Amino acid sequence: MSLRSVKDLNVTGRRVLCRVDFNVSLDKQTGTITDDSRVVAALPTLKELCARGAHVILCSHLGRPKGCDAALSLKRVAENLSSHLGKAVAFAEDCVGAAARQAVSNLKDGEVLLLENLRFHAGEEADDPGFAKQLAELAEAYVNDAFGAAHRAHASVSAVAKLFKERAAGHLMLKEVEYLAKALKQPERPFVVILGGAKVSDKIQVLESLLPRCDTLLMGGAMAYTFLLAQGRPTGKSLVEKDQVNTAQKVLQAAQEQGKKLLLPVDHVVAPKLEKGVPSRVVSADGIPDGELALDIGPKTVASFAAEIAQAKLIFWNGPQGVFEMDPFGLGTTAVAKAVAASSATSIVGGGESVAALKRAGVADQITHISTGGGASLEFLEGKTLPGIAALETP
Ligand code: AMP
Repeated sequence: MSLRSVKDLNVTGRRVLCRVDFNVSLDKQTGTITDDSRVVAALPTLKELCARGAHVILCSHLGRPKGCDAALSLKRVAENLSSHLGKAVAFAEDCVGAAARQAVSNLKDGEVLLLENLRFHAGEEADDPGFAKQLAELAEAYVNDAFGAAHRAHASVSAVAKLFKERAAGHLMLKEVEYLAKALKQPERPFVVILGGAKVSDKIQVLESLLPRCDTLLMGGAMAYTFLLAQGRPTGKSLVEKDQVNTAQKVLQAAQEQGKKLLLPVDHVVAPKLEKGVPSRVVSADGIPDGELALDIGPKTVASFAAEIAQAKLIFWNGPQGVFEMDPFGLGTTAVAKAVAASSATSIVGGGESVAALKRAGVADQITHISTGGGASLEFLEGKTLPGIAALETP
């Protein structure tokens, strides 16, 4: 089984349904787009389809609407895309039915149409065959470039794809799969994995999948405190998951048996509570006081993580190393972002927060591959079959 590329699809003069991930970030108050990087990431595929004279029919979800919701209309995204492509992008008020059919029939070679939010129909998330059929009837060929939605068995990525004999992956989808498959199957060594974020339970599967494949695992963020508790160290009021302590113990033991380096924080930035402006200070490995919580990795930890990162040939990073949204607890995450950017390794970064940290540190352009799918990239690295990729595969 393999993925056919959009470049091998006969698209000239044909109606091509292209599933993109235009789930952009919006300002809650004004509804304006605050981050259009997902639109930008789809441009190589869209420019190619236009240049080769396809009738380009784009579909996407945006947010989590319950039925129709004007605040989550894709109309603004059509305007944004139009400015990136330097040409008009038509918009259909519905993704299926008469409005969609009419808009599709107006398309000429190389023109682009964006359909309204797929999730305005319950059939999308239900992977409903009837809804899929309605979408499929709009086109003669299908391209999926929505890696960020590939882990969901939703109609536009799963049921729809199977209805097309002519189906292929877009350039973004192929690039995501290429980099993540490298980490999973042929990592350059040393392969350094950096994990962080709030919960062990969210990351345990990727941790168990990557531990045997990597050489070094660096762990910060709140999840590290469950591991420190598992080692019998004081964690004060830090966020820990008591029900994951046993799991953490097993991971620590597995790392030792497999001869992997698993580095936990050796110093911490602590504060009496998580609040802007509270006094904070750095304490040593066993120095978290009973009444305080650790909210970031300390400078010694940063230095030891940076030394491992500098040696790496391949890096995968997911998850902030502290409460990076609040000063001064973002210093550790920023330092890790800078170390990853400065490294000559192939670097792969996934997860909204880590990507935001890279942007904040001004180093996003120095990363080899920034994944557009936080959840999808984790599930891929967990070794799971992603429905959106499985549905595209051809014998
Ligand atoms: P996740 O979505 O699992 O990657 O978790 C991201 C969240 O973890 C962010 O909102 C961080 O503020 C939070 N986080 C990271 N480190 C800590 C910490 N030491 N204590 C509490 N929350 C943390």
